[in-house]
Amino acid sequence: VSNSPRLDALIDALRCLPGVGQRSAQRMAYHLLQHDRAGAHRLSLALQAAAQDLGHCQRCHTFSQSPVCELCLDPQRDAGLLCVVETPADQAALERTGSFRGRYFVLMGRLSPLGGTGPQDIGFEALLNRARDEELREVILALSFTAEGEATAHAVSTALAGLPVTVSRLARGVPVGSELEFVDLSTIAHALAHRR
Ligand SMILES: [Zn+2]
Repeated sequence: VSNSPRLDALIDALRCLPGVGQRSAQRMAYHLLQHDRAGAHRLSLALQAAAQDLGHCQRCHTFSQSPVCELCLDPQRDAGLLCVVETPADQAALERTGSFRGRYFVLMGRLSPLGGTGPQDIGFEALLNRARDEELREVILALSFTAEGEATAHAVSTALAGLPVTVSRLARGVPVGSELEFVDLSTIAHALAHRR
């Protein structure tokens, strides 16, 4: 604890970042205050604006400033193809491959029975409604090859089983246990092209 309540408050606030403990938070705070005041201002404005203005797209649940995001409104996207991902970061990774022309549904997490994350927490109902209401040909599950990703994929497949839609998954090749956002683009593109 320093002798400045403001500094202590900053360090304490930085600790809300994932993987950041007391020491890293201290390092960041000292760095910002000592070497990069302009960066500190930029960061505070960007944080405030994002926290205030960013909501979730009503259709795909990704972050969006408008009620429905640009990608969902884009008439060039194939409305019959829906790719289900775990996070906006995974969605961004797939977009960067440039090889998917359909639309997305972002679960905002994955099932974790032990961690207390159930279907209602990751937008299952909204996904099922979309699958029911829209003329989808194919739902592609681009979920991580982790135990929780597998459980989520299984649950989605089961839930969609009665509907006239093909459910496919990214091909293996994406390393087991890996999060999509950290996999290189050509691997993702390959897994997408060889989905089953
Ligand atoms: Zn959207």
